[in-house]
Amino acid sequence: MTLLRNTNPRQWCDICKQRYGSHRGEYHPKAQTPAYWKVVSQNPKRANQVRFYCLNCAADIQNWPDGTFYSLKEQLLDGLREISKGEQLNVELPR
Ligand SMILES: [Zn+2]
Repeated sequence: MTLLRNTNPRQWCDICKQRYGSHRGEYHPKAQTPAYWKVVSQNPKRANQVRFYCLNCAADIQNWPDGTFYSLKEQLLDGLREISKGEQLNVELPR
């Protein structure tokens, strides 16, 4: 998994798109927030899953209501650990 700077100015933030949606094939003006981060994650089931976040949404994700800071990178690593745990559960051990 990789955390990159987004370089495409026409690439909108995924969370803003979800939040404000589109109307007649046009995204809501507030949904057209250029993404700042490009997050590429690899997992055994879906290779190269790409997500885009603007700075505000990245901050929302990273700052929890209780004041904890949980970085995007840590969240990705933890997510990956969860996935690998699941994988291990499905492994049938030789007898
Ligand atoms: Zn956003």
